[in-house]
Order: sequence, then C-alpha cells, then structure tokens
Amino acid sequence: MLGLMQDHNLLISSIITHAARHHGDAEVVSKTVEGDVHRMNYVELERRSRRLARALIRMGIKAGDRVATLAWNSGRHLELYYGVSGMQAICHTINPRLAPADIGYIVNHAQDVVLFADTTFAPLVAAVAPAIRGTVRAVVFMTEPAHMPDIVLPEGMDLLCYEELMAASDEDYSWPDFDERTAASLCYTSGTTGKPKGVLYSHRSTLLHAYGVNLPDVMGLRTVDKALPVVPMFHVNAWGIPYAAPMAGAGLVMPGRHLDGASLTHLMNSEGVTFSAGVPTVWMGLLNYLKSSGERLTSVNRMVIGGSACPRILMEEFGDNYGIRIDHAWGMSELSPLGTYNAPKAKHADLDRESRLRLAEKQGRAVFGVDMRIVDDEGKVLAWDGKVSGHLQVKGPWVTSGYYGSEAGSALDAEGWFATGDVATIDPDGYMEITDRSKDVIKSGGEWISSIQLENIAVGHPDVMEAAIIAARHEKWDERPLLIVVPRKDHQVDRASLLAFYEGKIAKWWTPDDVVVVDELPHTATGKIQKLALRDTYRDHLLPKE
Ligand code: AMP
Repeated sequence: MLGLMQDHNLLISSIITHAARHHGDAEVVSKTVEGDVHRMNYVELERRSRRLARALIRMGIKAGDRVATLAWNSGRHLELYYGVSGMQAICHTINPRLAPADIGYIVNHAQDVVLFADTTFAPLVAAVAPAIRGTVRAVVFMTEPAHMPDIVLPEGMDLLCYEELMAASDEDYSWPDFDERTAASLCYTSGTTGKPKGVLYSHRSTLLHAYGVNLPDVMGLRTVDKALPVVPMFHVNAWGIPYAAPMAGAGLVMPGRHLDGASLTHLMNSEGVTFSAGVPTVWMGLLNYLKSSGERLTSVNRMVIGGSACPRILMEEFGDNYGIRIDHAWGMSELSPLGTYNAPKAKHADLDRESRLRLAEKQGRAVFGVDMRIVDDEGKVLAWDGKVSGHLQVKGPWVTSGYYGSEAGSALDAEGWFATGDVATIDPDGYMEITDRSKDVIKSGGEWISSIQLENIAVGHPDVMEAAIIAARHEKWDERPLLIVVPRKDHQVDRASLLAFYEGKIAKWWTPDDVVVVDELPHTATGKIQKLALRDTYRDHLLPKE
C-alpha cells in the first residue's frame, strides 16, 4: 500500500519561492566587481530569477541546455543559479583559475551554448573564445551597459550585456514543474589526474543536500544568520550555501573577487556576518591580517573549514583569541560536496582541551544521507577502531553515480559504493579522519605514513606558513616523508628545530627525513597543494647524489 501524502517534485525553484514568500526581507548583499555594494532581498532575487529565465527562453535556451558561468560569488550569479535551473536548463559553473586550455576543453565537452562572465574575466574570455566558437553562441557580461568590456569575439558569437537582457525581459513567468531527477547544475572536478570530469547534480540531489547542510550538527543555518560563502560558487555550488541559506531564511553576503584578510574583515563587520565557510588558506590569510592589524571580527560566531585538512592552529587561534567556533568538514565535488561534519557528541562535553582539539582535527561524522566505509586493497571491509586506515567509500542520494557523458552507475562498484580516492580511519564513534589521498600515501617499509598529520604539525611551528609532505624515493625504505615548507614572512626556518618539533607528537619513524625550504608551493585551481608537481621536482631528493 502506498502512503497517502502529497507528491511534490523536489525542485530548486521551490527554495527561492519559499524564501521570497516567507523570508522576503532577508537580504542578499554583494560586493560588485566595480567595487560598490549591491543589495536586494529574496523577493527581488526571486523576481529577477524569473526575469532571467524569460530572457534565457527568448535567447533560445531550451530544457537541458548547458549555460556556463565564469563568475565570482554575487547576486547575479545567484540569479543564474535559480533562473537557469528553474527553467530546466543546466547551470555549468566553471573555475576561472583553470588554464584557458582546460576551460576550452570543459566548455566543449559540456557543449555549453551560452557563457555568462564577470567583466574581470574579459581577457580570459577573449583567450578562450576561438576554441569554443563551435558550441558557444553568445557571451553575456554580467554588468550594466556602462561597464561592458571592449573585446572582439569570433564571428557567430554574440556579445551581450546582462542588464540589457534583463531590462528587455519581464517577470511574466511561472516556474515549471518537472521530474526532480532532472539535471540542475554541472561542475568539473579539478582533474589532478587525467582530464577533468563533469559531476551532474540533479534538483533532487541539490535539495536533499541543502536539507543535510541545514541539520543542526551540520551548518544548521537559521533565520538569524547572515552567511558569507568564501567558497566560490564556481566550485561545487559553494558547498550548497546558496541553496541552504534561502531555504533557512538566512541572509547571504557575497564577497565578490577580493578574498584577502582585510576585505573579508571589513565586509563581515559592516554586514554583521555570523557564519562563513572556506578552505584553510583563506582563513590563514584572515588570521594573519587580524593579528597584524589588531582588528577583530565583531559578529562572526562560526566558520566552516574544509576542502583540505584544517590545521589545529586555526582552531586554537580563532577559538581562543577571537571566540569563533571552527567546524571541520569533509567532502568532494562528487558528493555535492558534503560528506562528513565534525560536531562533538554529548559524551565529549568533559574532554580536556588536548582531547577536544584532537577530536576536532578529524573530518567528522557522516551526515544523514551519506553512508561510508573503509576497505583494504583487496576490498575487505575494515574495522572502525580509529587506527587502521583504508580506502574510503561512500554512497547516498547526493553522491555521483556516473560522470557527465557516461552511464548512470558507471562510477560505482558492484555494491553501489563510490571510491573517494581518500584514505581514512573511522573511530568507534563514527568520526572519520582522512590520512591521505590514495595517490599521496607514503609507504615506508610497507607501512603507511599520514602526510596530512605531518603537514598539520609543521604548520603549527611558529616559523612555518605552509607545508607539504611528499613521498620521496628511498634506497632502504622505498619511500620516506620529505617536508617542503614556506616560511612565514620575515622568519627563517631551521631544519633541526623544525624536525625536533615532531618529537613526542608522532611515532619517531614518521619524522620527515629532510626539510626543503621554498618561497611558495604550487596550488591547483581549487587551492589544494599540487603534490604531483612537487613530487616531480623532489622525488629523488633523498637518493644519493651521483
Ligand atoms: P574537490 O572535489 O576538488 O572538492 O576535492 C575533494 C578532495 O579534497 C577530497 O577527496 C579530499 O582529498 C580533499 N578534502 C576535502 N575536505 C577535506 C578535509 N576536511 N580534510 C582533508 N582533505 C579534504
């Protein structure tokens, strides 16, 4: 017997309709590319998204078409999120930090028909345009007529202005109803190995993920919050915050292009931001700014850190000196991105400071909607003892089933598990801790050493700004950890003092064999350290010199 409850498709348009109806006066504030601050509320956002949907239809965009964006976090980008997917097309967010050749590859692979871009990216658009002329019919710059960039596009590719399109359109549009499994947005993974692959999110997966994000032991946004996503809307839908905030009635503050410590501090304080989320590098920059300027964050009470392991120093400094709670989260593009979130259980209330910090360093417990397990090289399921590490696998309704252009289910094993490529432990309370990416694992004498743990300790040293551990080849042990560090401004790194810093914190045999000091580390387009490039350069560092 079937239940007798109403059957509604879980559609993205329902989020913005709800926000406009029930939280109409909550604001969306954007720092524009031109430098001023733009304000609108959810009523206006919903109206403008409908106006945009109408404009897209007039441009000949149809259900299922891919509409690309090259844009910072802004109100207009939000209108595209809702307008494009709401009219049943697919919002394809592209990472502008990628090389033009990669962007060309991605646009052609996705067969995007239109590209919406911030004016900042006019030179990038000009560089990519010849390669994408076969698929992209028009480039729309997300600005007013007065700020249109002066560029020439290849023949057959129209140059359009966003606000002109909007002015010529109208709001006489109702959001259509359709199958909730319809594709809503597309994001290509950074592709550290091989070509980038497209993750195709559906309306259903996006809505369920937004509910997951809003659970109380997860980001749990509330009507009283003002959320500032530092995580870019061009990477995994800014961790779902553009959906979770209006769903909860929380306001949104969009930082635009300036993500340095000073810009973030001033925007957060002037707009009364309570909540923010980003990768460790951004928070390190913010912390350094606060320390050197003596300024404080007057309204922020919690920040989420994910995308890379959260160094302990960030939790200590923000927690002890600024009264800000740091939540550690783990996820990936293929998980929309949320997989685990770290919140303490009741039994942890009386933990001493050291044990509390140690727990917070873990990536957290599975959010309802995601199941996880660890397996060994042969696929045998491993124990949750917090010690043995294995390949982390996940399943759930917001986990990828197959990449764009391939069959559903093609990214899964026979039992429906998705291999994350991460290596992790899980403790008896269900707290997962990433020890490595599978390909970054260091195998010394047949035993695994966690590069993440070693990196975290190194960045806790007062002279170290950033650290990477790579597996360097070794005559006796096959591989040994090599530490590569960038010193803090005006500091010198002393090899012996840095290596001594590991004493008592790890098993002695984990201590790196050597330290290399560099001016900067190479980063991927999503801000992760490019271990592959480092390994290419320093792989033989520990071998005897010829
Ligand atoms: P991406 O799909 O580009 O977002 O990258 C996902 C990968 O980032 C994961 O598979 C992890 O290797 C890494 N990652 C994300 N969050 C964390 C975290 N909190 N700690 C350690 N690694 C993380």
